[in-house]
Amino acid sequence: MNCRETQKLFIPFIDDQLELKELEGFLHHMEECKECREEYEVYYTLITGMRYLEEDSGKGSNWVTPAEKLQSAQDYLFRRYVHRWEKIAVLLIICIGIIFLL
Ligand SMILES: [Zn+2]
Repeated sequence: MNCRETQKLFIPFIDDQLELKELEGFLHHMEECKECREEYEVYYTLITGMRYLEEDSGKGSNWVTPAEKLQSAQDYLFRRYVHRWEKIAVLLIICIGIIFLL
């Protein structure tokens, strides 16, 4: 994923609308590209700031910083990843168990 593609995904990312594959590519690029990270922080602050102002003051209380938002997306991906390996591990254990039983 290049910078243009990544920057197109800023808004869907902020809205949690990225597909898992897109999210992976997006976060991967963000880790490596300082320019996009800086651009993202500007975007994020602008968009969430505008929404914060539009909302009722009580509702917008859970403000998340751009870095926290990135971090939580990374945690989410990591959990999905771990979960996948857990499933594979359980399957393997079952297979080994069956082989031993036979
Ligand atoms: Zn970039």
